[in-house]
Amino acid sequence: MALLEGARERRVRTGGVELCVAELGDPGRPTVVLVHGYPDSKEVWSRVAARLAERFHVVLYDVRGHGRSSAPTPLRGGFTLEKLTDDFLAVIDAVSPDAPVHLVGHDWGSVQSWEFVTVARTEGRVASFTSMSGPSLDHFGHWLNRRLRRPTPRHVGQLLGQGARSWYVYLLHTPALPERAWRGPLGARWPRFLQRVEKVPGGAYPTSSLPTDAAHGTWLYRDNVRPRLRSPRPDAHAHAPVQLITPQGDAFLSERLYDDLDAWVPHLVRRTVPARHWLPLTRPDQVAAWIDAFVTSVDAGRPAARPTGAYGERFGGQLVLVTGAGSGIGRATALAFAEAGARVVVVDRDAEAAARTAALARPLGAPEVWAETVDVSDEQAMERLAEKVRTAYGVVDVLVNNAGIGLAGPFLDTTAQDWRHVLDVNLWGVLHGCRLFGRQMAARGQGGHIVNTASAAAFQPSRLLPAYSTSKAAVLMLSECLRAELAEQGIGVSAICPGLVNTNIASTTRFTGVDAEEEKRRRRRSVRLYELRAYPPEKVADAILRAVVRNEAVVPVTPEAHVSRLLARFTPGILRAIARRTPPL
Ligand code: NAD
Repeated sequence: MALLEGARERRVRTGGVELCVAELGDPGRPTVVLVHGYPDSKEVWSRVAARLAERFHVVLYDVRGHGRSSAPTPLRGGFTLEKLTDDFLAVIDAVSPDAPVHLVGHDWGSVQSWEFVTVARTEGRVASFTSMSGPSLDHFGHWLNRRLRRPTPRHVGQLLGQGARSWYVYLLHTPALPERAWRGPLGARWPRFLQRVEKVPGGAYPTSSLPTDAAHGTWLYRDNVRPRLRSPRPDAHAHAPVQLITPQGDAFLSERLYDDLDAWVPHLVRRTVPARHWLPLTRPDQVAAWIDAFVTSVDAGRPAARPTGAYGERFGGQLVLVTGAGSGIGRATALAFAEAGARVVVVDRDAEAAARTAALARPLGAPEVWAETVDVSDEQAMERLAEKVRTAYGVVDVLVNNAGIGLAGPFLDTTAQDWRHVLDVNLWGVLHGCRLFGRQMAARGQGGHIVNTASAAAFQPSRLLPAYSTSKAAVLMLSECLRAELAEQGIGVSAICPGLVNTNIASTTRFTGVDAEEEKRRRRRSVRLYELRAYPPEKVADAILRAVVRNEAVVPVTPEAHVSRLLARFTPGILRAIARRTPPL
């Protein structure tokens, strides 16, 4: 992988150092400046920069002492936030003298960018700021002081949580040792650590300057951390809109650090993503999409396009595909994701129903909604759908395999044709979805989530629903196997197991072994039962979103589903006895 392919380079002199600045994209477009962290160089942005360059003028530079920028002499005192602000102003004077820039920072790039967006001398020069994994030292200082002054159990817990994550900061303050480690064993092992622990894809990153970058970068900590945390600036309010992207698996920073941020930022948009620290390398699609959307909304004069719904932070801008979304649980799920700001692909075999769901979803806040008509049991049609979705809308972030049908009646009255039909939709439909979209997710290498709608019937033997229950038990086991296989790729898999939910399923369920008149009568009875139970599909949708956020494996929904699951695990004999004694329909 050639890093920063096609970049134009220039040198910018400032305060006794020479900075290496790279540019991509059309300089006539809005300028996005990407600032790297520790122990990185500008190449950490290569994957994000390539994606943004199609729509923006992208500028990256090696921070003083890093990559191909020269280091200050002496090093001590050469990395203060004031000097780093001088560098930033020199760079934007060179690349965008007439228009404010959109700033993006990761790790220490974000720490210093907080300075750029909160000091008076940059006012009017920064149009927006996207921050990842790097708090303002002033905000951090106030956060610490507030908790030290009021050491409630919660505050002490938060202090201990962040304290444990900051072990390396204490080490970096010891003289000479970090430099020696980086130039020796630590520098040699770092690429393996990034790949194994941080799940950074292998390749040309990090660059050969790593040991020097890391040694010089220790002065970022030594020159700034203690003084700022001890006496943070009282006025550190942002003068531009800020988008905060928080990886939930960050080993170095607690999410709690940002609890008080609304007080410092008048226009704050929060995003969370299930990932580790090095987002620019591991989630470039998501990061680039969020930067693009935020920059575009700021330039259009709508800076604080806050994500809506309870899960907006997590799903804003993500691509979600729901099958069987024309009715019931699927429709409620598509609408819940739309409300959370996701881009939604509504799939159903019933074209009108899919179009209706899409029409209901559009006003809820989804940036884009598409309706697709597909029978999930049709292998070729699913292959065409997967290909169309990939090329037209992108790789799906969340896939909900929900389409399913009911079939009731004793085993001995169930024909081979009946079996084929229910397995084709309930099992093969899920298999096609997992196979086709799961492969795309894995190939992209940026994580994702698959939700399969099974049923409480999956853990409950039944003489009324042998075919349906078998299909759902297969979906449950498939989900468990897939979860084990895809975990290392950052792809979560959840099986949702609802009990009785008031949807159209009762009125479309086929009853075997009876004539049309009797089938009608049984349908009417089961519709009445579902109506009396009156459990709304919206609650299942809510459980689905929560399952994705928490990466839950098996999710019973409704009290009867919880009871069945407990009985199945601890006293399966009771469930068997109930199954035996249930009277025929
Ligand atoms: P529903 O009948 O209201 O909705 C199902 C939707 O799936 C319909 O829009 C239908 O057109 C679509 N569909 C059916 N076959 C399809 C196919 N081959 N290709 C594409 N779309 C197809 O039912 P629901 O209750 O919302 O069911 C959704 C899922 O939840 C199903 O898998 C069902 O088995 C499961 N489930 C439902 C309940 C319940 O009590 N309602 C309980 C447990 C599990």
